[in-house]
Amino acid sequence: MPQLKKDIAFVEFDDAGKVSFKELLKSVSSDPSIANNKPLQYFQIDPRNGDRVVYSIARARRPHDTNKLSLEGTQPTASGSCVVCEGKTTAIVDMASTSEGFTFINKNLFPITYPFEEEPKGSDPFSRTGQCAIGTHFLQWPSNRHDRDLDNMPLEDTFIVLKRLCVLEKNLLHSAVSGMPLSYRHKDGNHYGYIGVIKNMGRLVGGSIVHGHHQIVHTNIKPRKIMDYQRFKESALGGGMGFSQYLLECNPKEYFVKEYKGGTVLLIPHFMKRPLEAMILFRGSSKDYLHHLSEEELYSLGEALHDVTDALKILMPRLGRELAYNWIIYEGDIGGVHVEILPWTQEMGGYEQLGIYLCQGHPESTASYYRELIH
Ligand SMILES: [Zn+2]
Repeated sequence: MPQLKKDIAFVEFDDAGKVSFKELLKSVSSDPSIANNKPLQYFQIDPRNGDRVVYSIARARRPHDTNKLSLEGTQPTASGSCVVCEGKTTAIVDMASTSEGFTFINKNLFPITYPFEEEPKGSDPFSRTGQCAIGTHFLQWPSNRHDRDLDNMPLEDTFIVLKRLCVLEKNLLHSAVSGMPLSYRHKDGNHYGYIGVIKNMGRLVGGSIVHGHHQIVHTNIKPRKIMDYQRFKESALGGGMGFSQYLLECNPKEYFVKEYKGGTVLLIPHFMKRPLEAMILFRGSSKDYLHHLSEEELYSLGEALHDVTDALKILMPRLGRELAYNWIIYEGDIGGVHVEILPWTQEMGGYEQLGIYLCQGHPESTASYYRELIH
C-alpha cells in the first residue's frame, strides 16, 4: 500500500499549537489554489428551522483525476497510488510522529468557508437576505499510510491524532482576533466562533477521498444543531443539564453497548432513526469541547470510535449495505461534548423530509449487534 513520505510532504508548520491564529489564516488566504475554489461570501438561513446553507460551486468541480493537484477524488490509480500519498496536497500545518509513521493536518483545497478579508459587496443578490460567512477549513489525516484510519490504527496512535485535533481546535477557538462572535465563556479562555469536526467515510455520504481523513471547520456560522441543543438544555426535559446527561440518565439500559475508562459511554439512542446509529457520551462531564476532555476521556473516545467503525465493516455488509458513515462531534454551550455515528443504512424518503423517520431496525437489535463484536 502507498504512503506519504516525509521527504515529499510540503510542511509549512509542524505544530499548529505554536502558530498564531493570524499566521494560520494567512497560510490559507495566501494559497492561490484555495482562493480559486472559495465558496460564496454569504450563507442563507431557512426561516422554517434555521438550517444554514453555504454555496460552493467549486466543490462540484472537484477533480476525480489523480494526476491533478487535488485533495478530493483521490481514488487509487491502477498502480495503487493516491494524490495524498504522492504529496500533491496543500501545505501541512501540523505534523506528529506515530508508531507507524506520522499524522498531519493541512488546508482543504475546497473549503466550505473562507477567511474573506474584505467587506461583502452590497450589490451581491445574496446580501438581501444572507449573512456574511467567514472561516477556515482543514483536513486531518490520521495516518500517512493509505490503508490506516481510526478503525485499524493502534490506540496509542489514535490518541495522538485526537490530541493534535485538540491543539488545532483550541488555537482556532481561543483567538479573539478572529473577528468571530464570542461563543463560549470559560475560565481557561473564551471561545470565538464555532467548530465543526466531522468525518465522511464512503462515497455515499460525501466522502470523495479514499485516504482516511476528518474535517475541521472554524466559522462564524452557528450550526443549527447547536441552537437545537441549547433550546433542549433550557427545556423542561433538558432541565438545564443538557442532552448528554439526559440521555445517560433516561436511555434504556439495554441500549448501552459499552462503558470505557473515564466514564465514556457507547450507546444506541432510544430515538434511533436508522439501523446501526450510535452515540459516544461522557458520564458526569460538563466538558463542552474536545480540547476540554481529560487524557483518559480522550483516549477512551479513540477506543470507542475504533470499536464502532471497526464493527461497521462487518455489520453494514451484513445488512447488504456498502460501507458508508458520517460521524459528527457536537461541541459548544450544549451541556457536554458528544459524538454521533450515522451509518448510511437507509435512504432518505419523503416522510423523513416531513419529519417522520421510518426506521427499518430496532434499537435493541442494533445494541445487540454491536455487543456481539465489542467487548
Ligand atoms: Zn493515500
